[in-house]
Amino acid sequence: MAAAAGAAAAVGGEVAGRPEGLPPVLALDIGGTKLAAGVVHADGEVASFLVEPSHAEQGPAPTLERLFDLGRTAVAKSGVPWARIAGVGIGCGGPLDPERGVLVAPPHLPGWRDVPIGALAQRAFERPVTLENDATAAAAGEHAWGAGAGTRNMVYLTISTGVGGGVVIDGRLYRGAMGNGGELGHVTVDWHGRQCRGCGRRGCLEAYVSGTSISERAREAGLAAGTATEVAAAAREGDALAIAVWDETVEALACGVTSIVNLFEPQLVVLGGGVLRTGEQLLGPVREAVRGSAMGPAGRVADIVASAFGDRVGVAGAAAIVYARDGAARG
Ligand SMILES: [Zn+2]
Repeated sequence: MAAAAGAAAAVGGEVAGRPEGLPPVLALDIGGTKLAAGVVHADGEVASFLVEPSHAEQGPAPTLERLFDLGRTAVAKSGVPWARIAGVGIGCGGPLDPERGVLVAPPHLPGWRDVPIGALAQRAFERPVTLENDATAAAAGEHAWGAGAGTRNMVYLTISTGVGGGVVIDGRLYRGAMGNGGELGHVTVDWHGRQCRGCGRRGCLEAYVSGTSISERAREAGLAAGTATEVAAAAREGDALAIAVWDETVEALACGVTSIVNLFEPQLVVLGGGVLRTGEQLLGPVREAVRGSAMGPAGRVADIVASAFGDRVGVAGAAAIVYARDGAARG
């Protein structure tokens, strides 16, 4: 992302605070539908970026073998010699144990339980490995080099298959007691509402605005359009059913983001994930509604923008956590 590269020099705060001249890292991102790998330089420049389908239903062993192969190819394509790669960062949906490097039971990877991905990656690459919740990592990436560069307080919300969140408070990445803090997709927007696939409760933000939930609501409304992008397009063309589904999406997202803004009073809310391909059709009305309904001055302070890294935010984030951890270790 050209806009993100080179922005690091202007960045303050602990997430991004690091000396110049650090070596590049290999970044891996494990999503429910896609695996991604890339080599990222210390200034946020993504030197290589590769994506392939996850097929996580095959189970951890074959999927991780393909992920690690993708990582090796990403290094080969980056032009960076192996010897210069300082470490490996991995982003994955929670719950996970970042300290032990274990995926506990991520709902987007059915059947994956207590997978010691940190140890497996360390063996495969013979490098130190940092594991982090993917949305927390993405927040670190956007804060270090992307839309949130230079901010002290920001929130990142990813809206894709599920909805995840990451929070930067006073320049520090917020992790919570066990490393799973910031699960903003499970903010309740209707306590009697739709069942959430991610956590089983009712009325979570994720149960309305995730790509999966938008498709589900579209089907229930009798729409032919399937994906969030298709629903958005049909709404633009004036389809009354699509407009109703889209309006509910906007309303639910604005409701959730208003609570988040009231909680954290961030300078910036960065929205990413596949559903954000709909751009201002989603962002515009959400921004307006949040400004109107959040408590002052929080509502007036917070801007709401799209991720600077777009599809590469997972890889940028997985790299940023390596530098953030190094910074934390140095104190
Ligand atoms: Zn939930």
